[in-house]
Amino acid sequence: MDNCLFCKIAEGTIPSNKVFEDDTFLVFHDIQPAAPTHVLLIPKKHIANLNDATAEDLDMISKLHKIAQETAVKLGVAESGYRLINNCGPDGGQTVHHIHYHLLGGAHLGALTG
Ligand code: 5GP
Ligand code: ZN
Repeated sequence: MDNCLFCKIAEGTIPSNKVFEDDTFLVFHDIQPAAPTHVLLIPKKHIANLNDATAEDLDMISKLHKIAQETAVKLGVAESGYRLINNCGPDGGQTVHHIHYHLLGGAHLGALTG
């Protein structure tokens, strides 16, 4: 997808600090971390947000949970705990329109608020 920041990161035309990569997914550090551990998990396929994910896309995205588990172990937050978040659309606070999940940890995270 032209002009999509995360497609460019997935292609490598914009650099990122990668934690994990395979043919389907990429995990990289958020440029503006909101917690001591803050990484983004994306499918390489461009899907704008959860609303646009087909049943087939969701099968693929379910595998992202396995990568989240492994990423939490790799980054040392599996035992202390972490939060996996998808922001969808304007009210969800989505700013980058390529589906992604935030994995946050490394500190006790407060309750979710508006
Ligand atoms: P959203 O608000 O859409 O759920 O999250 C987008 C996230 O992407 C934000 O946490 C933001 O800090 C991160 N981000 C925006 N631009 C870049 C970038 O160029 N590189 C990286 N690594 N993260 C980015
Ligand atoms: Zn994209």
